Amino acid sequence: MHRWLRPTLRTDSIYDIDVEGLAARGIRGVILDLDNTIVPWGAHEAPQMLVAWIRRARGAGLALCIVSNNGGDRVAALSGVLGVPALTGAMKPRRRALRRALALMGTTADTTALIGDQLFTDVLGGNRLGLQTILVRPQSAQEYPLTRLVRIVERIMLRGAQ
Ligand SMILES: [Mg+2]
Repeated sequence: MHRWLRPTLRTDSIYDIDVEGLAARGIRGVILDLDNTIVPWGAHEAPQMLVAWIRRARGAGLALCIVSNNGGDRVAALSGVLGVPALTGAMKPRRRALRRALALMGTTADTTALIGDQLFTDVLGGNRLGLQTILVRPQSAQEYPLTRLVRIVERIMLRGAQ
């Protein structure tokens, strides 16, 4: 698998990520994908478990920023409820919004990690910028029809990487 598509780390969910460990390894900021990474695809509600996770990550000294390819009132509302800034319409794997997230968090590429559920948007974008990339399993099977097709390619590539 091309190195730009290889996540630094793979976990089942954000809840398996050792946020204190990230901070101990010099990470100061974490870019969060929204749909199917921190909430199920299209979700309007922030689970209490996520609120607690965010509190824990902040407690570990991590700055947070949501960077989503989606947008609209739903993302803005979730951002408000969670108290985490969100950059929307990000067009990942393009790097522009990711760079803006670094500027917002006051971090550099080598002190930033990105957590996402998709290889060709999240992992590719993060790797292109030199971030640590953490790939999680999608929280729900529901997504755009195009994404479902891309998943087939993802599965083949991830199987080859094991
Ligand atoms: Mg996603």
